[in-house]
Amino acid sequence: MIDELVRAAAREEPGALEELERVAAAGPDRLAPHLDQLIELEVLWPPTLYRAAGADVVRRLVERVESGRYAEQLDRLLLILAHTRDPLAEAALRRWDGTPPPGASRLHIGALAYALQGGWALGRDGGSRELCGPVAYRLEFSAAVADPAGCPWCGSPLWPVVDLDTADPRVAAALAHTGWRGRLRLTTCHLCSCYTTLFTEVTPDGGATWSTRNVPPGHLPRWTEDPPAVSAVPGPPRATPYQADAWSRGGSTLGGHPQWIQDAEHPSCPTCDEPMDHVGMVGGADLDDLGEGAYYLHLHASCGVAAVNYQQS
Ligand SMILES: [Zn+2]
Ligand SMILES: [Zn+2]
Repeated sequence: MIDELVRAAAREEPGALEELERVAAAGPDRLAPHLDQLIELEVLWPPTLYRAAGADVVRRLVERVESGRYAEQLDRLLLILAHTRDPLAEAALRRWDGTPPPGASRLHIGALAYALQGGWALGRDGGSRELCGPVAYRLEFSAAVADPAGCPWCGSPLWPVVDLDTADPRVAAALAHTGWRGRLRLTTCHLCSCYTTLFTEVTPDGGATWSTRNVPPGHLPRWTEDPPAVSAVPGPPRATPYQADAWSRGGSTLGGHPQWIQDAEHPSCPTCDEPMDHVGMVGGADLDDLGEGAYYLHLHASCGVAAVNYQQS
């Protein structure tokens, strides 16, 4: 059945690729036996199809990059390698950071920056760090009152996006990779976060204040608006860390990996410049019937900084 789906995706039959993506999200290993076939048929997008790639597939992809014969596929091949998070892929990205592979002049980012697209950070010092969690939970919504402290830029009341506490074992598991302990309340401006990444200073007693590091972009909303009257709270577990859905109702997710609508955008912590950890994703479809886009929540626990950014199609 997956064989047929792979061939249908290669023929660009409507819905086939989306169905493959769902299979990959619900059980990445189910695609593992079909990855050679996907490469053969040049189904190289989205790179999330390749999360379960084993060493053989990774070696084949690395050889493809280094041969120089697939330079027009270079961006997609590097994205796939980033999503495999395989030690061979890590070694190759580090090698290409110093000696770019054939065709690299057409890329917009360096080899190590591709790792961020797969949800991990590779430091030049040899260190690596997972930015996303190994477990995920649905985010559900409960009524919440907007923070009367208004947005310093547009004046809208601030939105209490999430109210979490690691005393809840689900939160502790979903945020384990961040090192956070305590209550995590994140407030943001639901309007201005659509224009730039907004940072919030957070404390383990639930404190959340607008960061003085926020820099207004050239263009900002000229109106005020009440934020969604809900906060996200943890719900039941998801079967895999990959089932966040930025498009559908019920897709909001705590922990795991986000579904990015555009390229991955893990912000850098404004205090230390390290990439921030992923906390969760709140889909617009869960906020109102016509909702679109998604809010992405980030944290750098050691600096006490949280962030929200937004993407739409
Ligand atoms: Zn605002
Ligand atoms: Zn930091």
